[in-house]
Amino acid sequence: MQIQENIALAPLTTLNVGGPARFFAEAHSERDVQQALAYAVARHLPLFVLGGGSNLVIADHGWPGLVLKIALRGIEFEGDTQKMLFHAAAGEDWDSLVALAVNKSCAGIECLSGIPGTVGGTPIQNVGAYGQEVSQTITRVRALEIASGNIIELSNADCGFAYRTSRLNTSMRDRYIVLEVDYLLHRGGAPMLEYGDLQKFFAEQGSSAPPTLPQVRDAVCAIRRSKAMLIVPGEEDCRSAGSFFKNPLVSAAEAGRIQELAEKRVPEKPLPRYPGEDGKVKLAAAWLVEQSGFTKGFARGPVGISRKHALAIVNRGGATAKDIFAFSEEIQHRVFDLWGVSLHTEPVFVGFTAT
Ligand SMILES: Cc1cc2nc3c(=O)[nH]c(=O)nc-3n(C[C@H](O)[C@H](O)[C@H](O)COP(=O)(O)OP(=O)(O)OC[C@H]3O[C@@H](n4cnc5c(N)ncnc54)[C@H](O)[C@@H]3O)c2cc1C
Repeated sequence: MQIQENIALAPLTTLNVGGPARFFAEAHSERDVQQALAYAVARHLPLFVLGGGSNLVIADHGWPGLVLKIALRGIEFEGDTQKMLFHAAAGEDWDSLVALAVNKSCAGIECLSGIPGTVGGTPIQNVGAYGQEVSQTITRVRALEIASGNIIELSNADCGFAYRTSRLNTSMRDRYIVLEVDYLLHRGGAPMLEYGDLQKFFAEQGSSAPPTLPQVRDAVCAIRRSKAMLIVPGEEDCRSAGSFFKNPLVSAAEAGRIQELAEKRVPEKPLPRYPGEDGKVKLAAAWLVEQSGFTKGFARGPVGISRKHALAIVNRGGATAKDIFAFSEEIQHRVFDLWGVSLHTEPVFVGFTAT
C-alpha cells in the first residue's frame, strides 16, 4: 500500500471544497486498512476515513494527518426463494449494489436508488430516502476497531440506528472503520411505495398494475434527477453534499406553535409535518429554509441554494469551505430567529476546529 503526500481532497468530494490531505492512502484490502492504521498510529497522525466523499465539507486547510480512502470491493450473496443476504465490501458503490439487488428481484433498498457514496458510508448516518432506511435491512456491520486493531461485528441493535444517525456517528464516532455490511432483502418482495412523491409519480402514469422493483428504481432516479439529488457530472446544482440540514424533530406542542405562526405568516404555504420517532413531529427543513427567505436558486457569492432543491447548499464554482460554513450558519440563524427552530447540519465537517 502506497502512502502519498499532499493530495487534494476537494475533487474526491461531491461539494468540491477543501484543502489537501497531508498523507493519503487507498485501501484495497483489509490488510491495507491494517497497515494504514499502523502507519498513522506509529506517527501519531489523526486518521480520517473517506468513502465516496458525498457527505463531507472538508476545511480549507485540509486534513493534517492520514486520509484513508476505503476502496475494498466485492459483493457476495446467499439465500433461498424468500430471502437473500448480500455481503458487500465497504468500498463498493452504493447505487451499484441497489441496482444488483433490484436485478435479482430483491426488495428492501429500491427506494435508496441513486444515493451517491459507498456501502461503508450507509450505516454511518443510517442513509434513508422515500420511506426506506438502511436500518430496515442491515443485519451486520463488520469493522476494524481503531483503538485495538481488532476486527469486530456489530449487530443491527449495536448500531443504534435512528433518523439520519447511528452510534457510528454519535457515541461510537471515529471508533471503527467499516469493512463490510450485510443487508437482508426479500426475494420477490413488493417494492415500497409509501412516499407521496412516488405515489404521485405512478398515479400520473395512469397504470393500474402495481409497479415492479425496476420501475420503482427508475421512478426514484427520475424524481431525484429532477431535484438534482442524482449526481449528473457537470451539472452545477449537483455540486452539493445532498441535503444540508436534517428535518427537525420537535414536540407536538412545539409543532403546534410553529403551525400557528405559519398560518399567520404564510397561510398559502401549509407547514408540512410528519409523524417522527418517540411521538415527536418531523418538520420539513426545506420549508423552514424557504420560508426564511432562502428560496431555490438564492445565491450568496459563490455559494447558494440549489435551483432544484431548497435543502441543498451548492458550490456554484470557486467556493471555499469557509463560504459554505458561513452560509449554512446564516441560514441556521435566520431560521432560528424567525421560527425558533434549530436546524442541525447533515454533512460531516472535517478538520474544522482550526478554521
Ligand atoms: C446529491 C446527493 C444526494 C444525497 N441524497 C441522500 C439521501 O437521499 N439520503 C441520505 O441519507 N443521504 C444522502 N446523501 C448523503 C450521502 O450520499 C450519504 O450520506 C452517503 O452514505 C455517504 O457515503 P460516502 O461513502 O460518500 O461517505 P463520505 O461522505 O466519504 O463520509 C461520510 C462519513 O462516513 C464516514 N465513513 C465513510 N465510509 C466509512 C467507512 N468505511 N468506515 C467508517 N466510516 C466511514 C466518514 O468518515 C464520514 O464521517 C446525498 C448526497 C448527495 C451529494
